[in-house]
Amino acid sequence: MSEWQPEPHTLGGAHAMDALEGQDRTRFERHLERCEECTREVAGLREASARLAAAAAAQPPAALIWNAAWTGAPRCCRCRAAA
Ligand SMILES: [Zn+2]
Repeated sequence: MSEWQPEPHTLGGAHAMDALEGQDRTRFERHLERCEECTREVAGLREASARLAAAAAAQPPAALIWNAAWTGAPRCCRCRAAA
């Protein structure tokens, strides 16, 4: 009896998010070497993920940056608690 294996064309999203491990990862990486469709899908998903991360990144308050530079540790300028 053979072990169930996921259809490799369905694993592009999981691979793009580094969610595949072990044999599933190895099998999918071998699949990527010969499947242009999945290669394009993974590249597109990684690019979209990077853009979302950049869009969601927030600039910390200036006072927090100043405190981190002055004391070497990020601390809140109002209560001095570690940030
Ligand atoms: Zn494929």
